[in-house]
Amino acid sequence: MISRIDLRGTSGDPRDLLPRAETDVASVVEQVRPICADVRHRGVEALLELAERFDGVRPDSIRVPREALDSALASLDRSVRAALHESIQRARTVHRDQRRPETKTRVAPGGTVTERWVPVGRVGLYVPGGRAVYPSSVVMNVVPAQEAGVGSLAVASPPQAEYGGLPHPTVLAACALLDVEEVYAVGGAQAIAMFAYGAGECARTDMVTGPGNVWVAAAKRLLKGVVGIDAEAGPTEIAILADETADPGYVAADLISQAEHDVIAASVLVTPSPQLATEVEAELAHRVPGTKHSERVAEALGGQQSGIVLVDSLMHGLTVVDAYAAEHLEVMTADARAVAARVRNAGAIFVGEYSPVSLGDYCAGSNHVLPTGGCACHSSGLSVLSFLRGVHVVDYDRTALSEVAHHVQVLAEAEDLPAHGEAITARVGRSGSAGEQG
Ligand code: NAD
Repeated sequence: MISRIDLRGTSGDPRDLLPRAETDVASVVEQVRPICADVRHRGVEALLELAERFDGVRPDSIRVPREALDSALASLDRSVRAALHESIQRARTVHRDQRRPETKTRVAPGGTVTERWVPVGRVGLYVPGGRAVYPSSVVMNVVPAQEAGVGSLAVASPPQAEYGGLPHPTVLAACALLDVEEVYAVGGAQAIAMFAYGAGECARTDMVTGPGNVWVAAAKRLLKGVVGIDAEAGPTEIAILADETADPGYVAADLISQAEHDVIAASVLVTPSPQLATEVEAELAHRVPGTKHSERVAEALGGQQSGIVLVDSLMHGLTVVDAYAAEHLEVMTADARAVAARVRNAGAIFVGEYSPVSLGDYCAGSNHVLPTGGCACHSSGLSVLSFLRGVHVVDYDRTALSEVAHHVQVLAEAEDLPAHGEAITARVGRSGSAGEQG
């Protein structure tokens, strides 16, 4: 069911040989362009019509009433409430530690540059809700924004016909648990457009975050610049770097758990051990038919984006997982901590056999909104820093400006921008001899 890719004996950049999902966001951009334009020009009326068309229900209003949030929380299963509470507490503990103090650097006598961390003013958080319900995504988006000090937060999630045009009650309950009062029953590209342009009660936001399907990603691509975005989340993926010491049952269970998300989810095992590969294949054959979403899992594992990659050695495996730059990377080897410490590219790294990705999805305290599609080689997952801007505050007195004036004037002339130099001359005169000092 899952294919094998044999990279033994190969060298060089393995990226072209590795399995990877292909989603064509670009081709969907033209489909979402009229949706976004419609929301921009017709606001709430467009949102209600689009809900009818794409979600099969016309909500009474796009804003979810406060009573609906309260009643969703009151009816929430006690054990789900306790689990969400635990998830929130752990995420808060980790994200609180990510806050940055301002740094003040004395560059010269009388001259300082301070980096001040300022939260984004207003943020729109998208919580998917087409095919599954993701209260955990509420936690993973809201907690870092709150811990960063974002003053105004709004959540949007698709209206559900089954719940009278409201988002899923567990999503609403998670919002209530996190004291988020501004929630909209709006899904897909139209939700991103609502946040970018504003509509009805929803004032425009400065930034949109959150995962979603290809229409959500296309709207983010289209509206980037009108509004800030976190990332265009692609299909989810796991890579597992494992050697002969790994438990094949654990490896198979984790490959399956990721494949459960989506038929285009990617599950990749990288191993120097042909024996482990064979044992994992046997475990998959045994476990997949018995799992609840077996059809979806089988399609994802059998897809061209998944596979078992055979490598020459653990060192070769490290090269391969760095090239793949997985959203989630598990390391299940002897001395997993030492091996994990050598990994450079991954959205999040899960060390050893007791740190599975499922733990990180819900309750590790880490964030589960992570870079996909190889973007982990240049981007980070969602964190408090995603919601902060480092603003440089430049504070020089006359002496400090005089001391460096000549260099500024010379560089201004080198760039043929003499007015730049004149702005300095106007203050401290022309310091012709300073160049010879430098
Ligand atoms: P979604 O909320 O992203 O999308 C549903 C919306 O898509 C609908 O409201 C509708 O407006 C729009 N839509 C559906 N068909 C359309 C069409 N033909 N044209 C235009 N718009 C259309 O929910 P989903 O579809 O279930 O996708 C959620 C995705 O988010 C999955 O791929 C899942 O794996 C991913 N996800 C990722 C994370 C993460 O942290 N990386 C977490 C949760 C979910």
